[in-house]
Amino acid sequence: MKSSFNIKTNRVFTPLRKYGWLFTIMVGVGGLWFPKIGLLVILVILSLIAVSFFKGRFWCGNFCPHGSLFDSIVMRISNNKNIPYFLRSRVLAGLFFVFFGFSLSGKFIKIADSFGTLSYLDKAGYIFVTTYLMVIIVGGFLSLFVAPRTWCNFCPMGSIQTLSYKLGKRTGASKKSDEKITIANKSMCHSCGKCARVCPMQLNPYLEFTDNNQFDNEACIRCSTCVANCPAGILSLNTEKQGAEIVSNTSPEGYTGRVVIQSVIDEIRHLSDDVTEYTFRFQDPEVVVYKPGQFVLVKIQDSPKMFRAFSISSYHEDGRRLSITIKKVPGGYGSGIISDKFKLGDSVVLEGPMGHELVLDKNAEKVLLVAGGIGITPFRAMVKDIVENQEHIRSARLIYGVNSEKDFLYNDEFKEFEAKSDRFEYSRIAASDSSWTGAKGYVTDLIKETDLTGYLIYMCGPNPMIEATLKTLKGMGANDEVIYYESA
Ligand SMILES: Cc1cc2nc3c(=O)[nH]c(=O)nc-3n(C[C@H](O)[C@H](O)[C@H](O)COP(=O)(O)OP(=O)(O)OC[C@H]3O[C@@H](n4cnc5c(N)ncnc54)[C@H](O)[C@@H]3O)c2cc1C
Ligand code: SF4
Ligand code: SF4
Repeated sequence: MKSSFNIKTNRVFTPLRKYGWLFTIMVGVGGLWFPKIGLLVILVILSLIAVSFFKGRFWCGNFCPHGSLFDSIVMRISNNKNIPYFLRSRVLAGLFFVFFGFSLSGKFIKIADSFGTLSYLDKAGYIFVTTYLMVIIVGGFLSLFVAPRTWCNFCPMGSIQTLSYKLGKRTGASKKSDEKITIANKSMCHSCGKCARVCPMQLNPYLEFTDNNQFDNEACIRCSTCVANCPAGILSLNTEKQGAEIVSNTSPEGYTGRVVIQSVIDEIRHLSDDVTEYTFRFQDPEVVVYKPGQFVLVKIQDSPKMFRAFSISSYHEDGRRLSITIKKVPGGYGSGIISDKFKLGDSVVLEGPMGHELVLDKNAEKVLLVAGGIGITPFRAMVKDIVENQEHIRSARLIYGVNSEKDFLYNDEFKEFEAKSDRFEYSRIAASDSSWTGAKGYVTDLIKETDLTGYLIYMCGPNPMIEATLKTLKGMGANDEVIYYESA
């Protein structure tokens, strides 16, 4: 499967965004028979000018019926390619705005002699209807063959909003209402570029946050797609004041030690068809202190600068090396680059260590570790540390779920730890393997058989597993304070 930079993802978060396209069809198509419907467009234009004065292009991302058509309907079959530079240039937007202005005025001048009659309403409505239809056709064509929101880059209504927004900013009227994408803490950013890859306007928020942690780009349509898809969960749509509060209330715990590490690939081990372990030796600095349960970022490309996050799957106490274990995702952009390009002896830039969610509480006495699929990686380092160093942990239980037996990673190591320590217990379960003779089902099936009293629970795995496990744990009476998790 070919990996692609732009990701098709859910951009529809409200009923209006999901079904707003019906209005477009009603006006652009229904208006051909009932032209007066086109007069509704006057309301649309006035509304978007008013909204943009206070909130930039919020209309485009949240209310625009054409935007709904592109995101909710056409995106499913769109090529979703990079939007060419000339279609994104301000010059094109400016020229098109002037052309549109002349064209619309010309049409109204032509019907001016019927002003004051009933037929004028039909004629005026018809002008808006055909304009709406033109956007459906041209915008839809671009949406299909280039990317869903290509049209929005030079839409005259977008240009009007930008002008209105500039006025709102100049007069100070937008200061309290203008919500922008806000990053809670720049050190927590994985630099994974997912915010850019899902952005309908193909912007790069993660590369452009200002000193006050906000994304100031006037082309942002405030659709919150980046917020919903950021794996670090550090984005939000907020005013400057709310943003400042979020920044000051966000604890940097687990991220203050983040450094740039020049490293060399020391060892590569293929663990299965699609899982490979890479060990990096640090060069500059030569020693980096990290904890089991933390993760590092691996640089995959320079332009645009982009990393991928991976849990540290080994624990080298001397702090001179670390390993990560990577599953090649079908169609995966970053894991594809690593698996195709990374060779023994290559220099690789890492950043980290990062994260605190899976770092064991130093007062913990009983811990339940729950891993799903590739989410086993942090537990390899943590179990070694528990068995060899963390004497205060009286009982550690690892529940490891996969689809089929061949997916179990580091099985021999976990068995050895279980044989070596009476404080560690290891349980496996496979969901869909008819030849597997062990427990069949999901991690939640084994959790249900466990007495959770006194346990701190650490989980890592794909989102569906995390969600299902959280539901089970809550149902068993576990409260938020004893549950820690990270999605892999
Ligand atoms: C803290 C942390 C630790 C991690 N540890 C590990 C680890 O130890 N080992 C490991 O292998 N991985 C780990 N990961 C995952 C890793 O960072 C990458 O996400 C993973 O390798 C896939 O990246 P990719 O670029 O190859 O895939 P991508 O190109 O990002 O996506 C893969 C597939 O999913 C689809 N997709 C992606 N996002 C969306 C979306 N929002 N909506 C719809 N479709 C989408 C894409 O279209 C594609 O088909 C970790 C992630 C985090 C955040
Ligand atoms: S973690 Fe990834 S998606 Fe989130 S802000 Fe950083 S680069 Fe963007
Ligand atoms: S930066 Fe975020 S909110 Fe702005 S357009 Fe892109 S995805 Fe939407």
